[in-house]
Amino acid sequence: MSLAKHEVDATARDFKVLVADDSPIYRKLVEHTLAEKQYAVLFAKSGREAIDLFTEHQPSLVITDWMMPDLSGIDLCEHIRNHSRQTYTYLIILTGITEKNKLVKGLAAGADDYLTKPFHSDELLARVGVGRRIVELHRQLEAKNQMLEELALTDPLTGLPNRRAIEEWATRQLSGAARYGFSFLVVLADLDHFKAVNDTHGHDAGDTVLKKFSELLKANSRRSDICGRIGGEEFLFILTHTTKENANVVIERIRAALEATKFDFAGGSLTVTASFGVAGFEGTQAADFNRLVSQADAALYLAKRTGRNRIESAATEVL
Ligand code: GH3
Ligand code: MG
Ligand code: MG
Repeated sequence: MSLAKHEVDATARDFKVLVADDSPIYRKLVEHTLAEKQYAVLFAKSGREAIDLFTEHQPSLVITDWMMPDLSGIDLCEHIRNHSRQTYTYLIILTGITEKNKLVKGLAAGADDYLTKPFHSDELLARVGVGRRIVELHRQLEAKNQMLEELALTDPLTGLPNRRAIEEWATRQLSGAARYGFSFLVVLADLDHFKAVNDTHGHDAGDTVLKKFSELLKANSRRSDICGRIGGEEFLFILTHTTKENANVVIERIRAALEATKFDFAGGSLTVTASFGVAGFEGTQAADFNRLVSQADAALYLAKRTGRNRIESAATEVL
């Protein structure tokens, strides 16, 4: 995107630039040059002040002098690179030093570019423009990565976390449960005779039921819980910081709510039920998540065998 000089680049105001230079003359020269772009510019008179301003404002681009009374521009570059942030900071060294081996050292310290004093205004502006482009690309890449990461952890049909997301979450929570002694209960739920729903009313009807059940799970889970879809018509629900009795009340509420839901489809209306298997552990050693899931699975199998539309619990494992 290029703008004619008189056009206002509205996003420029969101682009924060930190200028570190102990020379008031150079600060003025840089200020004057950057004024044309309306960037949000901050000025530091020393390396220390630059670090403080950097920490507080997290600018996208830093233009730093090399020689300053306290910290050098190299120290500043190293500091910024070592205190890695979420987004990229583009670093330009503006220096009177012209020896190539020194400039190489600056780039090695983490600078992206350098410019020698006295600088040419248009060149500084152009190089800041390059920096802005790179920062922008980094941001887009990060946003895309974040989106992909979310997609990789989400079940597309229900929007619930998928198996991988639950496994990641559970592994983190399990060590906390052992260390701080909070409860950790795994509930495996499976819709009853679900194949018949699809066979009689079609796959879309089946999907509607799956979504409705997801809503029921979500509506009955707290912030400290997680629920997700781990496969076809199987769901995992993990409750922490609660007793088995309270968990049973919650699961019973979900079971009853599903049973009470009437689904109206073109082929007629129907009700659907689900069976639940619960497992948990107590103790100071983190349980193996997959083992807890198999225990819940065994309890679920028992619930299926003994009539479906019910909840069965495995004995609490003591570790
Ligand atoms: P049970 O009570 O023993 O659990 O019987 P069931 O019919 O629910 O179990 P089964 O495992 O035999 O069938 C599961 C069915 O779930 C098979 C498949 O048609 C359906 N299913 C799996 N994934 C999806 C999905 O994403 N959408 C829909 N609509 N159906 C699905
Ligand atoms: Mg089933
Ligand atoms: Mg199944």
